[in-house]
Parts: sequence; C-alpha cells; structure tokens
Amino acid sequence: MTTNPPSAVSSVTGPRFEAKSYAFTPYVDTMNWIGGEWQGAASGATFPVDNPRHGQVIGNCPDSGVEDVAAAVAAAKAAFPAWRATPIKERVQILFRLKQIMEANIDELIWLVSHENGKIYSEAKGEVEKGIECVEFGISCANMPGQQMDVSRGVECKVSYEPLGVVAGIVPFNFPTMVPLWMMPQALVAGNTFVLKPSEKVPYGAFKLAHMLKAAGLPDGVFNVVNGRKATVEGICDHPDIKAVGFVGSTKIAHLVYERGAKTGKRVLALGGAKNHLVLLNDADFDLATGNIPASAFGCAGQRCMAASTLIAVGDCQKYIDRMVEIAKGIQLGKDLGPVIDTAAVERITRYITQAEALGAKILVDGRGQKGGDGGTWVGPTILDYVTPEMPAGCEEIFGPVLSIIRADTLDDALHIENKNPYGNAAAIFTSDGGNARYAVERFQAGMCGVNIGVPVPREPFSFAGWNQSGFGHGDITGWDGFRFWTRARKVTSKWAKQSDQTWMG
Ligand code: NAD
Repeated sequence: MTTNPPSAVSSVTGPRFEAKSYAFTPYVDTMNWIGGEWQGAASGATFPVDNPRHGQVIGNCPDSGVEDVAAAVAAAKAAFPAWRATPIKERVQILFRLKQIMEANIDELIWLVSHENGKIYSEAKGEVEKGIECVEFGISCANMPGQQMDVSRGVECKVSYEPLGVVAGIVPFNFPTMVPLWMMPQALVAGNTFVLKPSEKVPYGAFKLAHMLKAAGLPDGVFNVVNGRKATVEGICDHPDIKAVGFVGSTKIAHLVYERGAKTGKRVLALGGAKNHLVLLNDADFDLATGNIPASAFGCAGQRCMAASTLIAVGDCQKYIDRMVEIAKGIQLGKDLGPVIDTAAVERITRYITQAEALGAKILVDGRGQKGGDGGTWVGPTILDYVTPEMPAGCEEIFGPVLSIIRADTLDDALHIENKNPYGNAAAIFTSDGGNARYAVERFQAGMCGVNIGVPVPREPFSFAGWNQSGFGHGDITGWDGFRFWTRARKVTSKWAKQSDQTWMG
C-alpha cells in the first residue's frame, strides 16, 4: 500500500513543536519509508504508540510483515550499485548535510525524544548531541585511508574496505535517535544501503531521520525504515539478501537474532542487556562518588544499558550511602526524572523491589507508586540495601531507577561478585588509590570499565560494546570497529617489477 506522505510531515523537518514543553501534543501516524515513499504495512495492520509521560496515544505505527521487509530490501538492493559507485568523498557530503539539518532542528529533535521516550529535556539533549557526534564520526571515516605496503621487491599489497551490500539495524526503545546513529553513518559512508527497524515503542526518531536524510539529498532506497515487532525482526533475520545485521536490545532477543541471522549466513553483531556493577571503596572522593553514582543509577529513569544498577560497597561506606539516600529523596519525578517506558516496565520494576524486600533487602528509598504527573508510567528512584548477589534484584537486569547495594568486606570479594555475574557491559570503581583502580580494571569482566565515572561510555573514536551475555558476535558497534563491521577487506597483491630473478611469490 503506497500513500503520499501525510501533509503534516511533508516538509523537511515535519511539524514544529515547542521546545522544552512537555505538554501533550497529538502527533501523526508514522509510516514505513521504502524506496523514497511513505507506505503503510502491506497488510494495513497498525498499532498505537503511547507517550509514557502522559499515557496518551501519539499516533499509529505500521505493523510490518515479511512482505514489507522484502519490499525494503528490494529497494535497498536496487539502490546499492549506484550508491556503492558514488565516491566516498561524495557520500559523506550527505552526512555533512544531515549533521547541519540535525543542528538546525535540534530543539525539535530533543522535544521528540522526550515526547516518545519520556526523557527529561537535558537527557534528551544529551542523546541528540551524542547522535550528532556519531554522524561526525561516520563522516571522519572518509579520511581513514586503506593500507598499502611494498612487501617484496616490486610486490605491493593493498587493503581496501568494501561494502557488504544491503545491511540492517534493529534498535531498542531507550535511545530512539542515538542508537540508529551508532550504525547508520558508518554503514552508509562505507557504501552499504540500509534497512532500519526502530523500536515499536519509539518509532518517531527513525521517522524524523528519514525526513532529514531525504532533505540532505540521500538517494531514494539507500536508507529505508520498516516498522514493526517480532515478525519484522524475524523477516530481517531470515532475508537472504541482507548481508549483516546490527542489533541492540535485551540479551534474550540479542541471542535470538544472533542465532537466527547466522543461519542465513549473515554477519551479526548483537548487543544485549546489562547488570553493571560499581565498586565503592571508602577512600573515594566523597562528592564525586555520591554525585556520580545516583546520577548513573537513576538518570534516564535507569533505562540505560550503562546504568549502575548494583553498587558494591566495600568496608564501611555508610556516610556515602546516607548521602546518596538524601540525593535520591530529593529527586523530583517529572522535573528531574522522566517516566519509564510503559505499564509492563512499571510492573516489572515494582516486582523486583517487592521481591527483594521479601527476601531480606532493606528499602532505603522506595519509588513504588510515585507519580510525576497525571497519567503516564512512573517509578521513583529506589535504593535497596543488603541485597545479595543471589537475589533477582542483585543479579538480573531491572532496567529501571533502582540501585541495589551489596555489602562486601574486601575489593577481592567485590571483584568476585562482579565476575560471577553473567553480563559484562560496564563496571567501574570509585577510589582515590590508583593501584586499587588498576587492580580492579584489570580484573573486571566487562567490556567498558570506568574509574571514578558512573557511566563509562567510550566516546568516538573509541568503540562501544560489552562482553559475555551483553554482546554476541565479534567486535564493537561504534567507532572504527563499527566501520569494519559493515565492510569486508579486499586484499590486492600486485607485481609490477622489471626484474628477472624469482622470489618465493613467483
Ligand atoms: P528488546 O530486546 O525488547 O527490543 C529490541 C528490539 O527487538 C526492538 O526493535 C523490538 O521490536 C525487537 N523485539 C522485541 N521482542 C522481540 C521478539 N520476541 N522477537 C524478535 N524481535 C523482538 O529491548 P528494549 O526493551 O527495546 O530495550 C531495552 C534493552 O536493550 C535492555 O535490555 C538494555 O540493556 C538493552 N540495551 C543494550 C544496549 C547495549 O549497547 N548493550 C544499548 C541499549 C539498550
């Protein structure tokens, strides 16, 4: 089913919104973007998208099936030869323009993130700015030369990084604008064509991205958006013409996508969930630790794969804990902290808190039943003390504003607890002792480690991914690793030598 774009969104940037306003504004239905046309699902099926702050429907979203995935792949495949043949210096010009368009419309993009995801303005601003930084990194890939070397007399080896063809990205709800930009810039700069499957809970970031890429001059079919849920993801995993899939989401689905995608011979990098541990030593700078730890645990309502969800307090850390309790109690829902994504999230988070209490944990701050406004889906900051690593709140991903404190006697005990957890996204230590910091960092079972920092995200050009159950597949998703993921290396060995002697290479 093909229709014209809704008139309200036919301009470059779509409808304008009042920046910093959280007032509920009805939006428009989103659609699939395939081969430069706005389309509904072939079946006509849709589902509603809610605003978590107000609990009201923003608009409807196509519920796509395999036939819609096939249409997007066909469009991307048709666009590939010309895009691949476009010089990289020309391909990046489009991303330059995308960056300019994003900057010119930044308030609206921020508003949109806060509207569909629920983040407060400053958090949404951070997300959009980080997304722009990812675009900048993609642009910079054009300046990374391939390698070339004379390996023998008159014999030259050269490596070039070539696109794979049609590639796809499947993304989660917690960063609707940034996570697609972890993947798309490098993939497009490398010469691939792209199919994006946004989270069904926050499809408008991708909707906007498609508008902006069109305005930036991207040829039709190079970037496509197929909205949907399980069936759409399975369609992507199974499609033989998709050569690589980047996935970001929960561990359960990451593993599923990794296995199912590999069955059709795809390259798959699937980042999963997390249970990040922060180790607190009682020599840590007081203000630094008590400022950073709650910010990491509660920021974005705890819905970050890099959120500190477990604090291992080594020795007597009571004064730090008392201060963090004070900070948590001072956080105003709706002003300092947004809602969680939906009713299912409220129920899941509440269940973990109630269960931890029943198992012997002490609730120092209780966010159950708190509200940040009329309607919406809210949980307030929560601190649980005397959690054990065996309790579900001590070892499973809660993905809400809950900090579980585990008490430990020594740094080695703390490392043992961290090492035993099956996830491996992030871990950090707070201490003033460089030796202890180094000792911990060398022993953490985590891909991204921090010292005196609550959210140790490696910013570009460094790359992002976790270990163990937090990531399946080889390499990282951002930075230079990301560029390598979306490309394959062609090695060319040439001999142009006016010589009569023979080398081992003939
Ligand atoms: P999710 O796994 O539920 O959804 C992610 C994607 O998978 C969505 O596009 C969704 O439509 C699809 N999906 C959901 N259920 C599916 C099913 N049964 N079969 C096939 N596809 C399915 O994750 P979410 O709730 O959107 O996001 C939160 C999770 O993402 C958390 O676990 C968080 O830690 C993780 N996350 C990880 C990273 C990282 O870099 N490791 C970054 C952000 C979020």
